[in-house]
Amino acid sequence: MITFGPVPSRRLGQSLGINNIPGDKICTYACIYCQVGATRHYTLERASYYSPEQILAAVEEHLSKLQAVPDYLTFVPNGEPTLDIHLKESIRLLMQSGIPIAVITNASLLGDAAVRDALSLADWVSVKVDANDETVWKKINRPHPKLTFEGYKEGLLTFASSYKGILATETLMVDGVNDGAELLQHNASLIATINPSRAYLSIPTRPPAMRSVKKPDEEAINRAYQIYTDAGLHCEMLLGFEGSDTGFTGDAREDILNMSAVHPIREETMGEILRKNRADSSLPDQLVREKEIREVIYQDKKFWIRNFTRAEGIGLA
Ligand code: SF4
Repeated sequence: MITFGPVPSRRLGQSLGINNIPGDKICTYACIYCQVGATRHYTLERASYYSPEQILAAVEEHLSKLQAVPDYLTFVPNGEPTLDIHLKESIRLLMQSGIPIAVITNASLLGDAAVRDALSLADWVSVKVDANDETVWKKINRPHPKLTFEGYKEGLLTFASSYKGILATETLMVDGVNDGAELLQHNASLIATINPSRAYLSIPTRPPAMRSVKKPDEEAINRAYQIYTDAGLHCEMLLGFEGSDTGFTGDAREDILNMSAVHPIREETMGEILRKNRADSSLPDQLVREKEIREVIYQDKKFWIRNFTRAEGIGLA
């Protein structure tokens, strides 16, 4: 199946997925946390899979069955979308629909001018930045042996400096691998150079390729969030909840759950949520007892964050 969804996505609203890489996973990486399973075809060679006309026909047919137009058409295949040599032409044909186009890429092929050229047509591009450190990059992303860390970084910076659409980064954190403070500071400085509209922090939410892969705990996620925001990044968390930072709705419980899924709530903000919603001051403790949120301390300050063990099995789109 070339198309799927639409899938509700906090990043993209209603997103109609396009799987432009057929069959078993074909990728330039074999990430230890990959939720698609083991990389069966490990390659750097861009190749012809579906023709752009096939992709257009599949999208048009899928759209004709939907009651509402999705917010995005998103290339998010079982593998790396830029391995598709027809990506540019497919995007070009789909642009006729008038629906914005998104691509979620691991960024490993951005050193190739043809890949950058294809992605330049997309309205929204997310690039993976798990580790600004060669050893950790190799450990977590397990890149194809012919990829170099310098090449990856150079491609990333070259693309970011010329891309005119909405650029996002995603850092997926794995316990004990890339969740240390020093590494996250390195990541934050690289991402700050890229200057994305949003820097997302995520965690594994489905069974990963390697059983040893564990989610970092709430303290580590909170620390990462603080490091990224201290670096001037507009950081949001993707913990497997479809939270939205909607402000004050009159329902304090919903506001706390939604906000804490997107970013940790500081003590002052929590006070404001309770006051504006005229809610009881015991509500945060009650949500902690219900295991909906967790209290964490960072640099002597109290924060509340969604208890993401509750998000088991919910996918990230
Ligand atoms: S880049 Fe994506 S598809 Fe490829 S191995 Fe990593 S997580 Fe899996």
